[in-house]
Amino acid sequence: LTVGVVRETGQGERRIALVPKLIERVSGRGLRVVVEPGAGAGALLADETFEQAGAVIGDPWDADIVVKVAPPSAAEIAKLKQGTILIGFLNPRGDPEGIAALETAGVRAFAVEAIPRISRAQAMDALSSQSSVAGYRAVLLAAEKLTRFFPMLTTAAGTVPPAKVLVLGAGVAGLQALATAKRLGAQTTGYDVRPEVGEQVKSLGAKFLELGIEAVGEGGYARELTAEEKEEQQLRLTEAITKFDVVITTALVPGRKAPTLVTADAVKGMPAGGVVVDLAGESGGNCELTKPGEEVVEYDVTICSPLNLAAEMPAHSSELYARNVTELLELLVDSEGKLALDFSDEIVAGACVAGAGGAEEEGGE
Ligand code: NAD
Repeated sequence: LTVGVVRETGQGERRIALVPKLIERVSGRGLRVVVEPGAGAGALLADETFEQAGAVIGDPWDADIVVKVAPPSAAEIAKLKQGTILIGFLNPRGDPEGIAALETAGVRAFAVEAIPRISRAQAMDALSSQSSVAGYRAVLLAAEKLTRFFPMLTTAAGTVPPAKVLVLGAGVAGLQALATAKRLGAQTTGYDVRPEVGEQVKSLGAKFLELGIEAVGEGGYARELTAEEKEEQQLRLTEAITKFDVVITTALVPGRKAPTLVTADAVKGMPAGGVVVDLAGESGGNCELTKPGEEVVEYDVTICSPLNLAAEMPAHSSELYARNVTELLELLVDSEGKLALDFSDEIVAGACVAGAGGAEEEGGE
């Protein structure tokens, strides 16, 4: 079997789905890796580094298994052969038309977002690996935009107090943001509606903001709040936010528009020069004044909503993603390099978003 690694074409997408470090491991499974010319350029990985690792530079669209980062465009779907296995972020919840197009094209598609978040699948969890990068970058962005220091400084010219950073939504991205802001010397506070994250927040040296609203839903994720809870939450957060120089928001509810946690009034109440980094822009944003993908200044507060922060750190985001992809490949292919799609495995069944019909188990060279 061949594995094709394509060059990403989305705007600003600098990641790649497989890196030279992992080619040997994939080849060890009896898989031949074909990399599109220039596919690693965004992550500063030259074609020769892939060749040195045992891959071939060529046409990846002809491969039996195509690995990608971002969802394929219509033009890319047209390049996929019938029966091809596709692995990538495919946005099955947000783009049902794209999934239908893959189904029509006869592609068997595995969406990394749809991998069940069970312990056995942790090493394949691309949502976590990329959220972790985004959480880290969000803090660096906030630090760059802030007109103040993050750490406390005692200098001959006076003492500077540490910046106060609030992270709303303490999932994977939020916890990484708290850890990063702490390392930069900020005074950190985390908030979430899942009560169990309180301990995780505190273990990172942050305070946990208690607002008395708990909302745990399906699969341990947060549920959408009721109208009354939303109002109550916004009211209390608006009051709390006035004390913070930086607010980083990461709150998402699967399949829903992102909750509004930072109202225009809350922004108005922040100190001049404050910064909001909204990581939920793709789902509509957590801040009322967010313009997804843009940076705006309102009430002397900078509000940034970068849409693909993980792509801005392509070396490590690609490396972590490539590990996730390799783990999934090893689940789909047996030790002799033959396809072994076991749809009774909840990971295989869960991740397969197109082309599952009629396929119980298959073998092929
Ligand atoms: P996410 O990106 O979907 O959401 C980010 C955070 O926003 C979550 O912590 C959520 O609770 C919070 N949130 C949602 N609505 C909110 C609101 N109105 N106010 C405040 N906060 C709100 O979450 P994620 O980071 O992808 O993961 C979180 C969940 O996934 C947890 O249940 C976690 O334990 C689980 N998880 C499991 C594994 C695993 O076992 N393999 C790995 C990673 C995450």
